[in-house]
This record gives sequence, structure tokens and C-alpha cells, in this order.
Amino acid sequence: MRVTALAGGTGAAKFLRGLTAVIAPEQVTVIGNTGDDALIWGLHVSPDLDTVIYALAGLLDESKGWGIRGDSFRCLAAMATLGRETWFNLGDRDLATHLFRTERLRTGESLSQVTDALRRTLGVGSRILPASDAPVSTRILTPEGWLGFQEFFVREKARPEVLDVAYAGADLAHPAPGVLEAIEMATAILVCPSNPITSIGPILAVPGIVDALGAARGEILAISPIVGDAPVSGPAGKLMAARGLSVSATGVARFYRPWLDTLVLDRRDEALLSSLQELGVTPVLADTLMTDREKAEALARRVLELLT
Ligand code: GDP
Repeated sequence: MRVTALAGGTGAAKFLRGLTAVIAPEQVTVIGNTGDDALIWGLHVSPDLDTVIYALAGLLDESKGWGIRGDSFRCLAAMATLGRETWFNLGDRDLATHLFRTERLRTGESLSQVTDALRRTLGVGSRILPASDAPVSTRILTPEGWLGFQEFFVREKARPEVLDVAYAGADLAHPAPGVLEAIEMATAILVCPSNPITSIGPILAVPGIVDALGAARGEILAISPIVGDAPVSGPAGKLMAARGLSVSATGVARFYRPWLDTLVLDRRDEALLSSLQELGVTPVLADTLMTDREKAEALARRVLELLT
């Protein structure tokens, strides 16, 4: 079995850790979001790729859902003393990742080459591919104007009203090497429980990826990041509403419907089964709250059962 997973950050990290505990990590290829990449102090930070790599390397700070467990923040404090902006929290060990990435990008390596080097060096058996080597930047339109995703999410704490979302650069981007093949050759394609608009949306915005999903031979199964009428965490609800989607598993299915076969939704959303069937998506109920590793592994096992 070869599984290809479309992934954002925290929700995807929990699920992929469970998945790679129940099948060999080498059977999994991750296509990761780079829409929320940011330049911080001149360093190229790829928060979602790093969250997935740290999770699969056993390094993730699981209480925060980002960064490296036990990291210190001495550089951040020193930068504050120097009067620099410090709203984006970068730990000292985490900084090494961004220095490594930025240095290698500057010598002409692509983001996919650097990401592969990072995951191998950290002992991650799954391939991790950025959706594109070209920049695709999620931009959020607020009443005060356009913001980069990290400015909206971290600096402004996702408080401003959201009027629109754009993926700058997507028109000119191409899928990174291996991305289309990973979709074509997969026995199954999983859409992790991730923010549909700002984690999966930037992947889908890269020309060629939606067509590849439409033509994929493998079954395509998504896990809803929305339980009831709210996301488990983060601003997905606000962003879905801004895009005219209901904040529910049905809204998730509507967004993925052109190519989605199956939606795994939480047991407490049983009332949505018929509306999902009407959309032409097969709904499956499961316990989708991954509050610990056992629950993440149980969800991964349930998903794998559905595929065999
Ligand atoms: P962001 O935090 O909204 O930028 O998005 P990410 O895609 O990085 O990850 C957070 C998403 O994962 C949110 O939409 C959450 O609702 C979802 N999520 C987090 N933990 C869980 C979980 O245990 N179960 C499910 N079903 N979704 C989750």
C-alpha cells in the first residue's frame, strides 16, 4: 500500500504520527502546505513542513503543537533586546532548521531538496514534499488591508474580520518534483484534518494538483477538521465562513467535493450523514478527536480499514 497525504500543520501532525505508527513510514508520502511560509529575520520559515517533520521525528512540542519539545527562546529574547519584532516565536533549536533551510536555498537548492535533506537528517522515513518549490503565499484580506497568513494568525491572533483569501503566486507555480506522481501512484490519498482554506487550499491552488486528484486511481478520503459547528483548533471556521462555506463537516465536503470519495466525520455529527450523501460523498463516522497518541493511532487504523 502507498499512501499520499495532503497536510497542513497541527491536525495533520497528530494524524500522521498515528498513521506512521500503524503502517511503515516509508509507505507514506506527505504533500505539505507552504502557503504560510514566512520570512522572519531574513530566515525562510516553513511552519507546516517543520511541524510535520518534527512530529514524525519525535521532536514536536506536542503541548504547543509546533516547535521542538524543551526548546529555549534565548535568541528571541536577545532579538527583543535589540528592538526587533518578536511576535513570531522561534526557539533556539528550531532556529537551526531555518538557518539550514535558508543557507541551502541561497546556494540554489530547491525547497523540495532542502526539505528532503532535513527529513532524512532527522530520521523521518516518510517522504515530505512541498506542494510547490515556487512561493505560494496565503494572503488574508481584512478591513485594514491584506495581511500575510502569519501576520493574521500569529501577530493579530486571527482576530480581524476576514473578507477574502488569496494564494499569491499560485498561478505561476508548478507542483514540486514527485507531487503529481505521488497522487497518480497512490493506493489511497488522505486529506489530513487540516484547515481546508489555509492549509489544503494553497496545495489545491497549485495548477495541476486538482486535475491529478480528479484523475487519481486511488480512493480519496478526507478527515474533517470540523466537529459540530467549530474547528478543533485554529481559525478554520472563520476562514470557511469567509469563503461562503458552512462551518461543518458538510462545508468541508462541499469544498473537496469535486474529487473527494469519502469523508470521515466525528460520531457526534451523525445528523449530517444524509446531507453528505446528497453531495455524493460517502460519509463514515469515527472518533476523530486525537487527544492522545492511542486515539490518533485508532483513527489511522479505522481509516486504513476503510481502504482495504
Ligand atoms: P490552522 O491551525 O487552522 O492554521 O490549521 P492546521 O491545518 O495547521 O491544523 C489545524 C486544523 O486541524 C484545524 O482545522 C483543527 O480543527 C484540526 N484539528 C486539530 N486537532 C484535531 C483533532 O484531534 N481531530 C480533528 N478531527 N481535527 C483536528
